[in-house]
Amino acid sequence: MEKLNIHLHRIPLPFRLNHVNTWLVKEEHGYTVIDTGLNHPDAEAAWAKVLAEHPIRRIIITHYHPDHYGYAGRLQALTGAEVWMSKRDQEMAREIWSHKHLTFFEQHYLACGLSKELARRLSENITGFSRYVLPHPEVTRFLADGDELELGGHRYEVIAVPGHAEGMLNFYNRKHGLLIAADHVLPKITPNISYWFMGEPNPLARYLQSLNKIQAYPIQLVLPSHGSPFTNVQQRIDEIISHHQKRLDLALAATRQPATVYEVNEQLFSQGLTEHELRFAIGETIAHLEYLVYKQQVRKFMKDGQWFYERVSD
Ligand SMILES: [Zn+2]
Repeated sequence: MEKLNIHLHRIPLPFRLNHVNTWLVKEEHGYTVIDTGLNHPDAEAAWAKVLAEHPIRRIIITHYHPDHYGYAGRLQALTGAEVWMSKRDQEMAREIWSHKHLTFFEQHYLACGLSKELARRLSENITGFSRYVLPHPEVTRFLADGDELELGGHRYEVIAVPGHAEGMLNFYNRKHGLLIAADHVLPKITPNISYWFMGEPNPLARYLQSLNKIQAYPIQLVLPSHGSPFTNVQQRIDEIISHHQKRLDLALAATRQPATVYEVNEQLFSQGLTEHELRFAIGETIAHLEYLVYKQQVRKFMKDGQWFYERVSD
């Protein structure tokens, strides 16, 4: 990565997933950073060290999730840097972290079969993220699929890879077969594919399409947002696809009798999750159920204010 002027900087996260990779790219004048971490004191301290030696001129955000986008507004305020990202994810960031959503999420979680107490705690966990995400940056350029840009004196193609986030972008250097993959393909963990009660109705289908899409690009090295750079992307893609296939089979088995999202979730995920983790588990369970609904393998119906999913007998 040295020859491409890209350097890895890890920014700490206060979760079990304890870091996000940010990429510092040396330009002719100053630096570009790709992703930022949360607006959190630990990230602030990590960035202070970077900023002491690296004038930041441009911030590129791969997608709107807090661990990537959260510190962008603050970093822009400190540096005056440009901020580039997709239009869709700017909209998502502004949409999700608005306080009107506390009751919005609570109602949806109740319809998923969560207890009142749990529905409230999960909704508060979402809105509690506002403090790690605000202020919003002022986006100075919107990037879209097929755009080209220069990073560290090298050309990159912008590839839209919706799924993990609707507006997520990857950056591909054809000459070196390098993919800056954000959370699209990760080496150790499976990227979370969640349904969020708004926007994309079938995120798992979208994600699988986006996995397909990048297989058309010869890739030598992947720079992921969590974990270490890796080769052999095809093997990792195959593993991720088979992981989802297993989860779909489990979800199908869990809906032999009509079941709520919460009940199916208990079959798919281990117990003892934090609120933050349970929220992702629930989102992922719905993504799998909705995928099966689209495939007409499962039907869903509302009863007494709760959604039930039931396997269509064949
Ligand atoms: Zn993400």
